[in-house]
Amino acid sequence: MVLQRIFRAVIMGPPGSGKGTVSARITKTFGLKHISSGDILRTNINAKTELGLLMKSCIDQGQLVPDDVMCRLILSDLRAMGQSSWLLDGFPRTVFQAEALDDAYSMDTVINLNVPFHTIKQRLTSRWTHLPSGRVYNVDFNPPKVLGLDDVTGEPLVQRDDDTPDTVTRRLKAYETQTEPVLEYYRSKGVLQIFSGTETNKIWPHVEAFLHRKLSSVKQKVA
Ligand code: ATP
Ligand code: MG
Repeated sequence: MVLQRIFRAVIMGPPGSGKGTVSARITKTFGLKHISSGDILRTNINAKTELGLLMKSCIDQGQLVPDDVMCRLILSDLRAMGQSSWLLDGFPRTVFQAEALDDAYSMDTVINLNVPFHTIKQRLTSRWTHLPSGRVYNVDFNPPKVLGLDDVTGEPLVQRDDDTPDTVTRRLKAYETQTEPVLEYYRSKGVLQIFSGTETNKIWPHVEAFLHRKLSSVKQKVA
């Protein structure tokens, strides 16, 4: 599908709700650029940049990175996108961040993956990540072809330091208190679209159909 005007979307959902997997499918199917705040932070941590080292302790404790740091990081990346259409994953995570984003861009749609917390806890603790790309696998329902190795590059997979049971509990708490209010913020703007389920493969066709409808109406308005 070829887009005729810039399309800007946010994908939300609790940690481990499948944002990374669904984002990869959206960007592949619809040709949007993917900006993942978590991937950007992990790239900084891996490269041992000053910012990365500072953020690592926050993240490993299951806490959010301070709003001002996050806003600077993401908004400068978005400016670098120029006239591209994009999908933001992991940002905004607080109402402060949502307002900062809103000052710069208006969103066409906000997709929320609504997955129950007990499903998420099981998933996160059996998850393996390819850090350079952000690709994720799950030993239970989405294993890599070779255990411990990325399907595409053959490089090693790691278990994220923040995917331990205690940290997962703290991340879910942070989600409830700080991120759930963002859903209300977007609901009141009339752009929130909710997709509920326990399996990414069952949620995906609904997201895909929704975006096909949404993007063809964008094209019609332009025509
Ligand atoms: P998943 O990777 O399954 O979506 P997640 O949503 O918890 O899980 P990431 O989005 O990868 O994880 O983020 C990892 C950590 O990075 C968060 O727990 C938080 O500490 C920090 N972080 C990421 N995005 C933000 C943000 N917008 N504001 C503040 N902290 C953030
Ligand atoms: Mg993620």
